[in-house]
Amino acid sequence: MPLKPVTCRHCGEPFISKPGKPGYVDECPECLHAKTAVPKPIEARIVEILGAMTNAKARTKAMRALKRSLLDLGVEESAADKFILSSVEVIAGLREQPKLS
Ligand SMILES: [Zn+2]
Repeated sequence: MPLKPVTCRHCGEPFISKPGKPGYVDECPECLHAKTAVPKPIEARIVEILGAMTNAKARTKAMRALKRSLLDLGVEESAADKFILSSVEVIAGLREQPKLS
């Protein structure tokens, strides 16, 4: 089967669709990446929000709200906990912030 360039339905750029990936036939790798890379901006936001808070009660409240949003996004509870923990570790300086590239 010859590979024909397809026009991306998001950005309009032509690209070569990889066979064997149903559902992604009309989305270029860039747009697909932008869609699937959702957790990274969220982690950056968690770091930002929690880092800006000096009040412990407000921090606890914010963490609960963040966990709820993660669960709403379809993240499993254990994964959400790990995610928040790693973010808090970044804030505490125990860990380097994940690269957002
Ligand atoms: Zn695209």
